[in-house]
Amino acid sequence: MKLERIRIVLVEPQLAANIGAVARAMKTMGLGELHLVRPQQWPHPDAATMASGADDVLQHAQVHAGLEDALAGAALVVGLSARTRNLSAPAESPPQAAARVVDEASRHPVAVLFGRERTGLTNEEVDRCHRVVHIPANPDFSSLNLAAAVQVMCYELRQAALQGAPVPQPASEWPPATAEQMEQLYQHLEQTLVRIEFLRQENPRVLMRRLRLLFNRARPDRNEYQILRGILAHVNMGMEGRLPGQRGGTGERLGGREG
Ligand code: SAH
Repeated sequence: MKLERIRIVLVEPQLAANIGAVARAMKTMGLGELHLVRPQQWPHPDAATMASGADDVLQHAQVHAGLEDALAGAALVVGLSARTRNLSAPAESPPQAAARVVDEASRHPVAVLFGRERTGLTNEEVDRCHRVVHIPANPDFSSLNLAAAVQVMCYELRQAALQGAPVPQPASEWPPATAEQMEQLYQHLEQTLVRIEFLRQENPRVLMRRLRLLFNRARPDRNEYQILRGILAHVNMGMEGRLPGQRGGTGERLGGREG
């Protein structure tokens, strides 16, 4: 079933007991791919105690030094947040997001991100997400235990898989750009915007966050990604006077040629 291919990513979980409870929550709903980013207690006997029978999920858990590694190849990233945020990717309800995740999991890797017990996900981490999900809990006490939040989301994923809920498709024959490709694009874009002095090197952050939101909403496919990289490459070539039409301009190479 598609559920097995859905990555559950825990970012810096603090308690091994919660990792074990997450493994159990996943297995009860038919999920199995657990990724841990810098777990604070790992390996640890509490994890197996709480997993009670879901040890196989723990054994296969992949541990990563950074979020980039956990998202490698992922073309859809959904983040769970106990808070509603102002500047963030479009919000979706748990069933809406689950339908999307299950649908896309049959075509490419997808990741569902959960934050630290104490502080949740950082803004930078949420900026990696195409969609943000808030479980509509008691507004006065909305923060679920990490494993409880995973349980709710995995339940929704299972319901979506069982119902085969159709999701409107983006009209593209190309697969969406992966998380790594988008990071490369942002780096290229930031360097270029600094270079053309649109962005000040000291404080590129707010604009870059807004651009991330824009691209995360649009979800460029791989062809569009190549076009954007190509445009940036040309801007940089133009800055260096290396475009064919710039012969006779003030490019660096020109001096060499004339001399
Ligand atoms: N105090 C933290 C809560 C972290 S709870 C904060 O304010 O963000 C640990 C993780 O469980 C969260 O990062 C989130 O991924 C998930 N979670 C807990 N409650 C949730 C809710 N109501 N909706 C969505 N995710 C939730």
